[in-house]
Amino acid sequence: MTANSDDLDRRDALKLIAGGLGLAAVLVACAARGAAARAIPQDPPARDLQAVPNELYLADSSLHIINVYKIEAAVLRDSQGRSQAEILDRLAREVYAPYSTFWRGYLGDEATFRKWAESSLLARSHPIHTRVAALVRLNLDSLFTAGAAWVSHNTGHRPHGTWYIVFGPGWTDMGGFADGTMLADFTKMEPERDALEFKFPHEFTHMAGASAAARRDADSGTVLAGIISEGVASYATYVYAAGRLARAQSIGYTEPEWTWALAHERDLIAAAKPYLGSRVKADDDRLRARNQRLLVGGPTAVAYFLGFRIIEAYAAHHGAASWIDAMDLPAREVLARSGYQF
Ligand SMILES: [Zn+2]
Repeated sequence: MTANSDDLDRRDALKLIAGGLGLAAVLVACAARGAAARAIPQDPPARDLQAVPNELYLADSSLHIINVYKIEAAVLRDSQGRSQAEILDRLAREVYAPYSTFWRGYLGDEATFRKWAESSLLARSHPIHTRVAALVRLNLDSLFTAGAAWVSHNTGHRPHGTWYIVFGPGWTDMGGFADGTMLADFTKMEPERDALEFKFPHEFTHMAGASAAARRDADSGTVLAGIISEGVASYATYVYAAGRLARAQSIGYTEPEWTWALAHERDLIAAAKPYLGSRVKADDDRLRARNQRLLVGGPTAVAYFLGFRIIEAYAAHHGAASWIDAMDLPAREVLARSGYQF
């Protein structure tokens, strides 16, 4: 647990939903392509599951990885012939209790956890039954290590903090809480290496940049700060992909969405402008959530588009590698120095 994990609350969980879906469209597209390519055994061999540690440290101990999914899968695996009440008690004892701060922040209290486990996790149709074997084989550790190394090397900022790998309520695929704690929820995404690879540069850039920038930024917590943060993180993915992702894909847009946004860029800016200084969650959602549209007929999550355009303008002015400046500068200064006309 990180020092500020008590700050996790329902509001942060909801903020996480808004912020964590940056590459959902890319992921879904890639996952759909990969899933048809091969059949995956439904159950990992017991020894393979056993070999996954409950917790470990990676990247010179700067990342603390908590494999909650392994404990969930182990409990379900041993559930043959046991009553539902017994299974729920064991889930509460082994999955909920040791990580209660995380669960309270993401899902709710123990009663909520039990209710969710009973109605969702234990259902035959839950993705844990079909995805855990592929997840065990994925070698997620190597993706963490490689993603963190790329961000450290290219930005000069080392991401550090705690990641929870879970089968949860699926409210996000990947994202972060206000205190920097991160989560990957495989209820919401396929364990496909090709898709995950592009998500880590985005999330690690959030992790590496957020705390440093926020400490010095009078705009910390505003809609503008959110726009810049998503812009830098999405731009990091674009740079990482080195031509393998279009700009649209780097922000989780389809090509038609990107084209629409470009054609209506001045209208989007005018519509976003009144919200820039706001710290109201509804305003943040209006620009960041993947289910809200700032303009009728336009794409959702406009913060990703505007942020990307600001960082792109910044790099055009100050040089190809200059986008990393935006991890350190206050949000208003990034916007001013970018020359992007807001
Ligand atoms: Zn993001």
